[in-house]
Amino acid sequence: MNYLEIDKNHLWHPYNSLPTKSPIRAVKKTKNCKIYLEDGQVLIDGMSSWWSAVLGYNNKKVFKALKKQGKKMPHIMFGGLTHTPAAKLAKTLVKLTGFPSVFLCDSGSVSVEVALKTAILYQKAKGKNKHTFLALKNSYHGDTLGAMSVCDPQTSMHSLYGDYLSKNIFVEAPALGFNGDYSEALEDLEKTLEKHHEKIAAFILEPVVQGAGGMRIYNPKYLEVAKKLCEKYDILLIFDEIATGFGHTGELFAFMHTNIKPDIITIGKALTSGTMTMAAMLTSKDISDTITNSEIGVLMHGPTFMANPLACSVANASIKELLKLNWKNKVKDIETIFKKELEVLKSNDKVLDVRVIGSIGVVELKDDRNALKLQEFCVQNGVWLRPFGKLFYSIVAYTISKKELEKVCKTMVKAVQSL
Ligand SMILES: *Cc1c(COP(=O)(O)O)cnc(C)c1O
Repeated sequence: MNYLEIDKNHLWHPYNSLPTKSPIRAVKKTKNCKIYLEDGQVLIDGMSSWWSAVLGYNNKKVFKALKKQGKKMPHIMFGGLTHTPAAKLAKTLVKLTGFPSVFLCDSGSVSVEVALKTAILYQKAKGKNKHTFLALKNSYHGDTLGAMSVCDPQTSMHSLYGDYLSKNIFVEAPALGFNGDYSEALEDLEKTLEKHHEKIAAFILEPVVQGAGGMRIYNPKYLEVAKKLCEKYDILLIFDEIATGFGHTGELFAFMHTNIKPDIITIGKALTSGTMTMAAMLTSKDISDTITNSEIGVLMHGPTFMANPLACSVANASIKELLKLNWKNKVKDIETIFKKELEVLKSNDKVLDVRVIGSIGVVELKDDRNALKLQEFCVQNGVWLRPFGKLFYSIVAYTISKKELEKVCKTMVKAVQSL
């Protein structure tokens, strides 16, 4: 069977044409931080499958949990029924995040949809007609229409969808840098809130690191001021931690870099360490109580595969493995290596900026036309990276060896130098 041919004729790939114009590689298997291609090549994984495979691939304990649950009960509807894997996961997530009300769903985008709906229902329950959202420029919150309506209008191509997309309000994102000056962004936020607060249900943002919309690291203090302003105007604060969650920024959740808590968080990606699709929305008790005790009474959302037992079991095993891993020190070591190895690119004339936080290393180039060239260079040299636009970045599993990570970094450096 020539499945590369079948793929080419029949399968859409992310953000692509059919057939795809860029090269597609067939993967045979994975193991920890290695990807084995059908053609015999072995690549060190510098992407952790888009923030998700934090334990590396094929973790034995996670697989054991999957098998065990598969024998017992792969799936059961969550309407009117419940099960141990879901209860166990809720207990763990409540303990780790401090948010007591949990909605389990199947993908990050859906958890964002649920968060937006929850915010509107909460405001309605309080007798307020607030249906608009505030978001940051450069944001990314998913690809479904609601989630997309709070993504950066330019990078997510809002104009293609015309009136179909809800109109939301965007403010300047804080300037770059974990200790960066956020005064301009704050000024914009203050002005915008003053003008539009009456219609804004919630402010949604990715805390500390904006991911797919620009790989931008910013000052957590901005979040503390934003929280105060939201309180002043009765606006809910939603932190989308789908990318930042589970240790990537050096704290278990990025909001833990601050002294505040938002009202709602969304998590996904690394929740099952990249083994199965699953996400969640968590809220304060005030939010679940307010909706429940109002005339509305219910949160009107219920995916078919909500709280899928297989995915819950995998999430339970993944979180257990993560907490056993001494992940905080490992992420710190990864950060140190990224900083040391990528430093040389700061003075490269093709490079605009080099920035690192936790398990994330980013090289922003001046030119946005070299992504494919860089990717091909890396694959030729045994490393899997997938730059987009100006952003050449790596997010690695916490189980990566020092040698493997150094190879990833050195390949990034050589790739940029080869331009
Ligand atoms: C990936 C991502 C999403 C969307 O999650 P999917 O599982 O791809 O639907 C939403 N928000 C952020 C911050 C993300 O990084």
